[in-house]
Amino acid sequence: LHAWEGTTVTTPRVVVLAGPTAVGKGTVARYIREHYPQVHISVSATTRKPRPGEIEGIDYYFVDDAEFDRMIEAGEMLEYATVHNAYRYGTPAAPIRQELDSNNPVLLEIDIQGARQVKERMPEARMVFLLPPTWDELVRRLVGRGTESPEEQERRLRTAKVELAAQHEFDARVVNETVAKAALEVVKLMGFEIANQRDA
Ligand code: 5GP
Repeated sequence: LHAWEGTTVTTPRVVVLAGPTAVGKGTVARYIREHYPQVHISVSATTRKPRPGEIEGIDYYFVDDAEFDRMIEAGEMLEYATVHNAYRYGTPAAPIRQELDSNNPVLLEIDIQGARQVKERMPEARMVFLLPPTWDELVRRLVGRGTESPEEQERRLRTAKVELAAQHEFDARVVNETVAKAALEVVKLMGFEIANQRDA
């Protein structure tokens, strides 16, 4: 039985999923993409290069700096930010409006700076903060994924401390104990009624 069966949407919403680095936002968003296909997951534009396996138009729209500037100037971005002092990321606004017009809920998985901008420009959006079960678990996940140098890990852990302090600006907090449970909680916050919770 698919997790999606027995699910009805009541009030479709925009939900912003934010949280500290390495908390697993991307993993929760991917789980929702696979298990709750009626949720539209916003595809961001970014100036970083694709990683192996990432697909244009599914993971991101990979654009150069000139195109990113053009999108900002044309007013196409709902929000944008430079993340980890490196690349720029932004949310194209038009697809979100289209999905809401079709009564589909929309999930934005973005950083905290971007989340604050969405809250300003779309006060009806529901702001969700994803928390690690414990601080030690966050450290373990960041070190364990082994994608950053020790210096970069240190820097990101300092950032994570600051980011965790922003949790009180959010409407709801979800603890990422297991991906399936966290995903289900986020989906409920999007305005879904879940009749069957077998997969959770
Ligand atoms: P990554 O490069 O690992 O895919 O993402 C790095 C960070 O960028 C993550 O914290 C992610 O939440 C954030 N991010 C991804 N897309 C957007 C976006 O459209 N806007 C903002 N503000 N942050 C984003």
